[in-house]
Amino acid sequence: MSTVINRDLIEQITGRNASDGDGVKLKRVFGGTGAERFDPFLMLDEFGSDEAADYIGGFPSHPHRGFETVTYMLEGRMLHEDHMGNRGLLEPGGVQWMTAGRGIIHSEMPQQDSGRMRGFQLWVNLPALEKMQPASYQDLPSDAITERPLAGGGLARVIAGTLHLADELVAGPIIGKSSDPLYVDLHLLPEEQCDLPLPAQLNGMLYVYEGTIELIGSQQRSGLGAGHLGRLGEGNGISIQAGPNGAKVLLIAGKPLREPIVQYGPFVMNSREEIEQALHDFRSGQLAS
Ligand code: FE
Repeated sequence: MSTVINRDLIEQITGRNASDGDGVKLKRVFGGTGAERFDPFLMLDEFGSDEAADYIGGFPSHPHRGFETVTYMLEGRMLHEDHMGNRGLLEPGGVQWMTAGRGIIHSEMPQQDSGRMRGFQLWVNLPALEKMQPASYQDLPSDAITERPLAGGGLARVIAGTLHLADELVAGPIIGKSSDPLYVDLHLLPEEQCDLPLPAQLNGMLYVYEGTIELIGSQQRSGLGAGHLGRLGEGNGISIQAGPNGAKVLLIAGKPLREPIVQYGPFVMNSREEIEQALHDFRSGQLAS
């Protein structure tokens, strides 16, 4: 048995209001400038509104190259359609894992004109060697996500990667990626404490979307409330305790790629030349061919 070193919170980030697609209001938790410190992740958006005007425009046809987009729906319905003829309805609790690779052109449109729409989109970078692979797409309905009870009574929904829970190695439906992404939605009861291993080689973060938690690190205890992301320091475990109303928390971790990142909107490559190539390919209709 090796010693457990619980990770401390080293940076707290508050999502900022932003707009994307055709006027969809969302909260950009991180992304763009300075995203290197979240390596291998490039962006996290939370979208959520009861007002149709905030989401009805959706994300009409747009391209991506060089990374993966992961959409996790909590409430509402969104239709994905892409140039390969894939059509997938994202429903509550489900996930769409899209590998843009050399290029995908798709739309993501709400399938409702009233009611609540809520979810997340995470961008996962691809290593240089995999950026130009053919595009692919995985649609995971809610019952394809691996669910396990936590020791303290809560629930873990494992979307990607593997998690040691009690004596079981629990695998999510997405495994075997180069950056080893771990993506877990933790639902904690009031005051529930949750201790999980988190391998030392993974960059890790926690995003609280309901309630509050306290992260019990090896150096300090840090509070984190809904709408805030905590970047985790070094160590091989995490210990968190939910506040009096419980908490819902995304645990996101992955092996850093440590490669140069050059981003131009929906294209994320390693050099300016590759971005120019992506723009050229897009304008000449060859991005996704
Ligand atoms: Fe997209």
